[in-house]
Amino acid sequence: MKIVTVVGARPQFIKAAVVSRAIKLHDEIVEVIVHTGQHFDANMSDVFFEQMDIPRPDYQLEIASLSHGAMTGRMLEKIEEVLLKEQPDWVLVYGDTNSTLAGALAASKLHINVAHVEAGLRSFNMRMPEEQNRILTDKLSKILFCPTMSAKQNLLKEGYADDANYLPVVGDVMFDAAKFYAQRSQKPAELPANIQLGEFVLGTIHRAENTNDLNRLRSLVESLNDINKSEPVVVPLHPRTKAILDTNDIPVDFTILEPVGYLEMVYLLQHCSLVVSDSGGVQKEAYFFDKPCLVTRDETEWVELIEHGSNHLVGVDKTKILTAYAKAKSAAIDYSVPFYGNGHCAEDIISYLLKDGCN
Ligand code: UDP
Repeated sequence: MKIVTVVGARPQFIKAAVVSRAIKLHDEIVEVIVHTGQHFDANMSDVFFEQMDIPRPDYQLEIASLSHGAMTGRMLEKIEEVLLKEQPDWVLVYGDTNSTLAGALAASKLHINVAHVEAGLRSFNMRMPEEQNRILTDKLSKILFCPTMSAKQNLLKEGYADDANYLPVVGDVMFDAAKFYAQRSQKPAELPANIQLGEFVLGTIHRAENTNDLNRLRSLVESLNDINKSEPVVVPLHPRTKAILDTNDIPVDFTILEPVGYLEMVYLLQHCSLVVSDSGGVQKEAYFFDKPCLVTRDETEWVELIEHGSNHLVGVDKTKILTAYAKAKSAAIDYSVPFYGNGHCAEDIISYLLKDGCN
């Protein structure tokens, strides 16, 4: 069986790493990796391939820094060329980026089976490019691997057939990654020496709705500046966000790091006291590493953690953020509820692909 895996952005390298490792255990499967180039900096791409032992991409499409339409269009064209040459049984796509949609659409038009890892997630905000990408990718997929029961429920409400082979709930590949790499975490070399373990807040900011709206970005940064007065805040910052902060002279008092590798990120998650993030992945990783999380968005796809009380949906309002910060610091939370599977999601994904075979 031949699988073409399409990746292009940081979270996809992390998700694909665990599935590629599971594929390597099967001699009967050949994996061909296509890197679209959406994320290309060494610290947004290469470091993950090195640290997580992901096979070198067979194809580097080098498509980056374009508008959404141009980027998706060029990816579609280039991925089609790869698929015509490789003739795979499956195209495996992850999450909700332009690379996900381009991979799914190119395959679907050639009548090649698409499997979508992280299917069924919904923010119900159609202005998000991620929401557009994931809804369309779900529609084009032959198997929709749901990370959670709530993801499957979303699909059933949209009229998808309730078939365990079509919408399997396999858990979350990011939980597999967190479990596997937890023992290998590494202290970031650039973490300032005065930061005490267990006594800092870890933040990330990159969601377009926060970075492209300067009022939202200012409010978020001011909130982190305020928290930083009582407890140091450490933010490995996405290059796009850094550029916007610099261009607009937005004052930052907290510690900014360059984007870190996954092993360093796991270290920060293990040793922080609390997480403040608009990242899809990081809000779950907070839970994996027993940390409360303030989700700086107006909605989230990971609703079970809000209902559970470990995560708090706070948007970017300063009062809301500071109130939730004080509350979350003192709340007693049970982090053992297995919302995201058992850490063997990647093996389950391979079993489903093999079972379905080349039909
Ligand atoms: N991450 C990382 N280094 C960083 C920031 C994030 O390794 O400096 C990891 C993080 O632990 C998570 C993934 O990148 O596994 C999340 O990616 P991102 O926030 O870019 O995307 P999203 O999850 O929102 O799609």
